[in-house]
Amino acid sequence: MSFLQDSPHLLERAYTASHRLLSGLRRWMKPGGRAERAMIRIETITKGPLFDCKMCGQCVLHSTGMTCPMTCPKHLRNGPCGGVRVDGRCEIDPDMLCVWLLAWERSKRMPVFGSDILHAMRPLDHRLSGTSAWINDLTGTAHRTPAGWGE
Ligand code: SF4
Repeated sequence: MSFLQDSPHLLERAYTASHRLLSGLRRWMKPGGRAERAMIRIETITKGPLFDCKMCGQCVLHSTGMTCPMTCPKHLRNGPCGGVRVDGRCEIDPDMLCVWLLAWERSKRMPVFGSDILHAMRPLDHRLSGTSAWINDLTGTAHRTPAGWGE
């Protein structure tokens, strides 16, 4: 499916359309209910094969060139580590290109959200793992700083 990921502007359009559609259904998008179970299933069968989604529950694809940062062996969400090889390959898995190198290149081809890659992301809240990222986004759960984390 990497041919689709290499067309990030198309995925960006699909993301924008999905966001608009699901925002209209916001009132039914409640965590823990039937809607969430359905969304988890939908996200698993769509984002799984397309992005190798790990269901972190806090999707940032539109900020990372439609490249899932959780596919980085170190799960880095704020750019590459210092171990990227000179040929752009991962220091842990030399069979793969650095996820962040791909994210950077793809972001350049995203007219709407491309510059989001420059923003620092909050740490991952592992308690949301396995939940619906769409519901967490629409309810604001994914954007709330957990108590005690500070801003
Ligand atoms: S950022 Fe999280 S929800 Fe989005 S594709 Fe990656 S693992 Fe899945």
